[in-house]
This record gives sequence, C-alpha cells and structure tokens, in this order.
Amino acid sequence: MVYSTMGRNDYENSMIVAIDGPAGSGKSTTSRRVADRLGFLYLDTGAMYRAATLAVLSDSANLKDDEGIGASAESMEIDFDRSGCRIFLNGLDVSRDIRSQEVTDAVSTVSAFAIVRERMVDLQRKIAGNRDAVVEGRDIGTVVFPNANCKFFIVADVTERAKRRKKDLAELGIELTVEQIVEDLKRRDKLDSSRPISPLQRADDAVEIDTTDMTMDEQVDLIVTNVRERLDRKEMKKSSD
Ligand code: C5P
Repeated sequence: MVYSTMGRNDYENSMIVAIDGPAGSGKSTTSRRVADRLGFLYLDTGAMYRAATLAVLSDSANLKDDEGIGASAESMEIDFDRSGCRIFLNGLDVSRDIRSQEVTDAVSTVSAFAIVRERMVDLQRKIAGNRDAVVEGRDIGTVVFPNANCKFFIVADVTERAKRRKKDLAELGIELTVEQIVEDLKRRDKLDSSRPISPLQRADDAVEIDTTDMTMDEQVDLIVTNVRERLDRKEMKKSSD
C-alpha cells in the first residue's frame, strides 16, 4: 500500500471521494459500500460509458466513424435510480445489457472518443458536483474532479481481478474462464491507459491501495476511515474559521 497526500479540499459544502483504477480491481463493490456507509451518492461512471457504448452499437453506427458516434453521444439520455445501481438509457433500464460481451468488447474504443468523454464528464459533474458523492472510474481524480477531497487508486493482481470478475459475471448468468477474463482485462487496461484523452492513471495526490490480498471489508474500512478523518479535519477547520 502506498500513501501520498490526499486531494485538495476545494469543496466547501460537499465532499467528493474519487475512486479510480483498472478493470476488475473491485472499485464498484467498494465504492457502492463506501457510499452506503457514509450516506453519500454513488456514481458508477463505467456504467455510463457502457450505456453510451450500447447506444452507439444499437444505432449501428460504425465504431470508427466520428460522425456516427458524435450523433449517438449528442442524443443519448442517461439516468440512474436513487441507489445509483440501475442505469437507464433513453428511459429504458439497461443495467443488465451494459454487462454483455458485445458492450465489454467495444467500450474502450467508444470511450476513447473526445465527443463521448465531453458528454459524460459534463453529466458526471452535473450529477455529483456540489453533493457528497463517491465517484468511481478511470479519470475521476485526474480529470472529472481534479480537486476531489479524497482520491484513491485501487489496483490488484490481474489474475485475482479476473477471479473476482468471473464471480460477478456468473451472477449475471455469463460464464467465462479466468484465462478469457485475464485477456479481456489486459486488453482494456492497455487501451484505457494508452489513449490520448484522459488515460487511466493515478492522480499524483491519490492514495494507492493494492487489494490483491485484502478482503472487501478491509478495503471498505480503510477508505471509510480515511474519508472520516478528512471529514473531521474539515469540520475542525470550519469551526476554527
Ligand atoms: O468500470 P468498468 O470496467 O465498467 O468500465 C468500462 C469501461 O469504461 C472501461 O474499460 C473504460 O474504457 C471506460 N471508462 C472510462 N472512464 C471512466 C470509467 C470507465 O473510460 N471514468
């Protein structure tokens, strides 16, 4: 585990917790549980890029065609339910469809387009800005909320990540081997880390947590403790001002 300084405290009346990391690192479950424990809004930005990809695929636009992708990005409406766990595309619940193999195969390509990222980042700031929120993704601490109060970068060994993903997929009725998932994770990590716009990278001021040998409870406790310390310091500063 590598600790570095936490994010700057620029949000006066709200608190943003940014959780970034590669595919399958356990960000989603961790972020959801952290948000639950703190009573914060939970925002899964990966689900948004997946929904955007579904929109592009169902418009049968050419994946390499900027215009087709631009048109889909302009017209799509993305919403969440109150829990942040169900996502709607143009009013339809697509929470399950966005986990399909077709979407997983295409999402890193679609999310590399500037027009898609602009639309998503704008929406993410509208949903979570000025609220207490746990926001998870790839570029939250670097691009979406560079001044987030707390930033975490979650990593784990790729085989461990694949094993965890296999379990999640099995719950959705999708059966893949660990080897197939390792290949997919490596492919997506490479595309996500090497794209010119908002690549996956740790913010300089993020706390890095290697979860390979940690239980989910340990990960959640560690983050909640960090955030609570930060909240206490914020309260103390407020009352001394
Ligand atoms: O988090 P999840 O694995 O569901 O994300 C799916 C994909 O969405 C990632 O592989 C990445 O290509 C894209 N993504 C992104 N920026 C984010 C969140 C996800 O580019 N903030």
